[in-house]
Amino acid sequence: MQLSQYLKVFPWEEDHDLLLLYSTKQASKILISKKTFCQAEKGIFSPEDESLLTELGMIVSDRGEEQKAMLGVVDEINSRNKTLNVTLILNLDCNFACRYCFEGDVKGKHYLSDDTADHLIGFISERFAGTKEKLLIDFYGGEPLLSIGRIKELSVTLKSLAEARGGSYGFTLVTNGSLFRRHAAEELAALGLETVKITLDGPAHIHNTNRPFKSGKGSFDAIIRNIKETWNLTRLQVGGNYEIDNYKDFVLLLDYLLAEDITPEKISVIKFDPVSKYPERYASDYTGGCMSLDEPWLISASAMLREEILKRGYYTLGQRLSACIVESPDSYVVNFDGAIYKCPGFVGKEGFAVGDIRNGLKKQISPYKPGMWKNEECITCVYLPLCFGGCRYLTFVRDGNVNALDCQKPFLDATLETMIRQEIKYNIRA
Ligand code: SF4
Ligand code: SF4
Repeated sequence: MQLSQYLKVFPWEEDHDLLLLYSTKQASKILISKKTFCQAEKGIFSPEDESLLTELGMIVSDRGEEQKAMLGVVDEINSRNKTLNVTLILNLDCNFACRYCFEGDVKGKHYLSDDTADHLIGFISERFAGTKEKLLIDFYGGEPLLSIGRIKELSVTLKSLAEARGGSYGFTLVTNGSLFRRHAAEELAALGLETVKITLDGPAHIHNTNRPFKSGKGSFDAIIRNIKETWNLTRLQVGGNYEIDNYKDFVLLLDYLLAEDITPEKISVIKFDPVSKYPERYASDYTGGCMSLDEPWLISASAMLREEILKRGYYTLGQRLSACIVESPDSYVVNFDGAIYKCPGFVGKEGFAVGDIRNGLKKQISPYKPGMWKNEECITCVYLPLCFGGCRYLTFVRDGNVNALDCQKPFLDATLETMIRQEIKYNIRA
């Protein structure tokens, strides 16, 4: 047996005779003595250690075979996936005027039409077949709750479609939170609402500057009221977008939530991300949460905010085996006009539509270049299971194209140990 290719070894300052081992493949961790580790490096194990370390994914019979298996791991995960996931952009309208949301040609009173909705049902009906057991729709905007009638109508139809085929239906909302009143939440929960992601950009004074209503009035109080009204009807996730000059104040938001009795049991996840940047020639309001940047201030900002979230008993997301959804054949993003993309960040960007719901998917090589991580450097990289080439959208933001990988190495080198230590300290799952 040999040590896994995807094993990180960290010193354990609390006891210099110990080492912290972390499998990036299984997100497993263990403290072992330096002596045991030295023996393991030579392929010498007691039967107990061999069985435990194998179970944790930290040793393998052949590292070359392990690397080959990694080449197929995303395909294998995809083949086991029983969920059809469609992110649906219901409109490009919004009742907010966010400071960092560039209101260019992209925004406006554009809504999903009846005809597009009918074609969408046909598109989903064709694909919710075979081994698929769950139909999951992520309603997105603009502001999806400006299309609440459409959400209800589609949910009634899609729920019966899924159930008629022995499956189940659920949906999520990515909303600014201002329209998520109790009555709406009750109706939507009955139709399959599972999770609501609401954005709070820090405490009131920052949030109200960044995310006011179109009238200019602050939206913070309305959102807090709605969280209090709805937390027991669905899973609420709070996201927030910080910048270099305000991230430290996000701690005030956490204290405010606790003071207002919005305690950890009422919020399933809190995750703060940096405000995204865009290539100069593109405008976008996409502020999706599945990305990271490796500017030096972000490394300390993300570690600090994670610590503050966990310290107060809230849960936040960690690093685990995950690939971008452009790698998944069962995930689509459908724009209000019926164009199909693979990531919300690319909606409306020329050359990134992979089809439309009227004519189906184009027979083309994916413009998102899935599988770019299948090269020698990535396959032998300890971070591969956490990265798989990173985020195409961040590459696009950086380069204006997706010809290169968004390498997570500098970011993970700087943050992974801290994140693992936080998981141990606060006893949380990855
Ligand atoms: S490209 Fe980036 S933002 Fe888009 S789905 Fe993939 S990881 Fe998320
Ligand atoms: S892109 Fe960078 S961090 Fe990601 S697997 Fe490749 S070498 Fe590793």
